[in-house]
Amino acid sequence: MRDDFDARTKKVLADRVNSRCSRPDCGKATSGPQEDPTKALNIGVAAHITAASEGGPRYDPSLSSEERGSVDNGLWLCQNCAKLIDSDVQRYSPELLREWKRQAEQRAQDETRGIGQDQHAVDEEFVAFGLFDEKIRLLSLTKDGKWEYLDQMSKIHRILYVATSETLAMLAAVEELEALMNDPKASELAFQDFFERNPRFILNDEYKRAHSHITLVREEGPLIPDFLLEPIDQNALCDILELKLPSTKIFVLKKSRMRFSAAVFEACAQLREYSSYFDDKENRDLIHRTYRLMAYKPKMIVIIGRRGDVDPIAVRGIETDLPRLILRTYDDVLNRARARLEL
Ligand SMILES: [Zn+2]
Repeated sequence: MRDDFDARTKKVLADRVNSRCSRPDCGKATSGPQEDPTKALNIGVAAHITAASEGGPRYDPSLSSEERGSVDNGLWLCQNCAKLIDSDVQRYSPELLREWKRQAEQRAQDETRGIGQDQHAVDEEFVAFGLFDEKIRLLSLTKDGKWEYLDQMSKIHRILYVATSETLAMLAAVEELEALMNDPKASELAFQDFFERNPRFILNDEYKRAHSHITLVREEGPLIPDFLLEPIDQNALCDILELKLPSTKIFVLKKSRMRFSAAVFEACAQLREYSSYFDDKENRDLIHRTYRLMAYKPKMIVIIGRRGDVDPIAVRGIETDLPRLILRTYDDVLNRARARLEL
């Protein structure tokens, strides 16, 4: 049984935010004209802060059916943002969504009263420290003297504690990667470009630099691995990283046993070819002279596919099929980046 919003509730939700998406980074108008001069377009969604039915995102069993379908449990979003909040319920918690709602309604109120965007932005930026019970606490101040603690607020405010420009850039990058992963038209080149601009996603704690466009010269024609990863340790040997698309299937079921797909074996063969290049001392010397990089029997890392609903026991079982390959999915990369942001 789903406790959906009725038409009246949806209209109230839309009207309370001037028909704009409530996600602070979006704010897109959700209605407008259609080509047909007699019709209007509506891309708004009345999203549930806690799910309409059991098993749904952020479901709260303590609510009554009536409460679940009430204005109080609704949030007006554009279609994209409605999908986004259900894709990661850890990140988009009910508290965060309620904070979005509060801010969106505030913006709508200001807009209705004719308070300019600039003035509002200034209002939002007053942050102060106060000494309370011998503890320093972060406060948010408004122009009319109202204040509130920021340290007891929802996640969005807690970010303020660590919001260096670096973290903000990282947050933006996480969103960019997520969008790329969900874009079926994104090319391998787009991912290569992303990781070149945001090497932290592939460096983790082991490597200091990701080198792309390193040409392994040889008689049969050059090889160009996507990345050579240079370790932090001095004189340590580089490893090789290859990128495939997130849409690539990683597993196939063969004779009722899970196997790596042909695409994985292909990526592995490609990595082995790069790897064998460094078996030759002359080649190693050439790369060292040209790039000041050393490699020999490198680890072979491939970023490919999505984690999906795969049984981890089965995965571990077949990983022995390709012992030297380190396989990471795009979800793994994204989750690591997020985990680092939570610190
Ligand atoms: Zn939106």
